[in-house]
Amino acid sequence: MSAYETLRQSPAFAALRAASVRLGSNPLQVQGPGGNASIKDGGVMLVKASGTWLAEAENKDIMVPVDIAGFRAALRAGDPAAEDNAAFVPQEENPLGLRPSIETSVHAIFDWPVVIHTHCVATIATALRKDAAEIVTQRLGDLGAAFVPYAKPGLDLARAIDAAATAQTRILVLGNHGLVVGAETAEEAETLALEAARRLTPKTASRPESQTELSTFLGNSGWQAVDHAATTAIAFDAALRARIAGASFYPDHVIFLGPGILIAGEDESAAAAIARAQEGAAQKLIVFPGRGVAIPTDASPAMQAMARCLGDVAACLDPSAELIRLTPEQEAELLNWDAEKYRQAMSADTE
Ligand SMILES: [Zn+2]
Repeated sequence: MSAYETLRQSPAFAALRAASVRLGSNPLQVQGPGGNASIKDGGVMLVKASGTWLAEAENKDIMVPVDIAGFRAALRAGDPAAEDNAAFVPQEENPLGLRPSIETSVHAIFDWPVVIHTHCVATIATALRKDAAEIVTQRLGDLGAAFVPYAKPGLDLARAIDAAATAQTRILVLGNHGLVVGAETAEEAETLALEAARRLTPKTASRPESQTELSTFLGNSGWQAVDHAATTAIAFDAALRARIAGASFYPDHVIFLGPGILIAGEDESAAAAIARAQEGAAQKLIVFPGRGVAIPTDASPAMQAMARCLGDVAACLDPSAELIRLTPEQEAELLNWDAEKYRQAMSADTE
């Protein structure tokens, strides 16, 4: 039996799949295909495949084998070969032809037998604060936590982690992004992730219920109300709206919903706001003040999960904290736009 097959058959891997399902099914931890998990033993690693959902870790084969020693050596050497993580997948061990997650480099660099990465909303609400590094030290310092300033997911992020982590680091709070935990076992990693979430969740996190008549207002526009109280609340709270207006806060929002959110004018028609949202790098989430928040009716489950996530993150925000947004350059690189064309498209959008 190959080393990959031995790892696949191990109780440790079964435990990782079970923990992945639990975390992946909790929208306060993981939304849609976000987040990922890995296990390493000897020179081999199994890591979540790109585009798959952690919630499905027990019904489907979502884990892809990676030659960890070769990939890590290429990463550390700055070898351009590391740009294509699929090149480190032993194809004879990958009958489904899965591609490793873009965040595989994070799992390769963070040297724990089990690594779990979540987009925990309480962590994101902390990780976009200007004083995030201090909060992480205060609340998670005794757990072996380090703060890593925002870097583009992939190789840039792996290098930032390599610079920030020591052998004692067990928790990484990724600026404007999420949480990574490392442990000897899946059970320990899950416990650590939930403990970090508990400590970062504000005592007063409010999840107000709001009624919406947005559906009537939208009519047959091809857009529908987001059915999630925390997201709807953004439409009914001017102070909150002002706090989250403008650019985006974390990568998956940009990837699934476009840059930031469009806030419709008080007297603007649904059609006019939708037309504005479709200009430039299209925005897929529109806040109608006093009415609700809308998303296209053909939105994928991942887009809907990200629309709910924004409300959950907003509900965890400390009203007094100064926030850091992704820059237009960072948004452009996530969307694979040329930075200059992107700036022009986005400035045309706001005129
Ligand atoms: Zn992530």
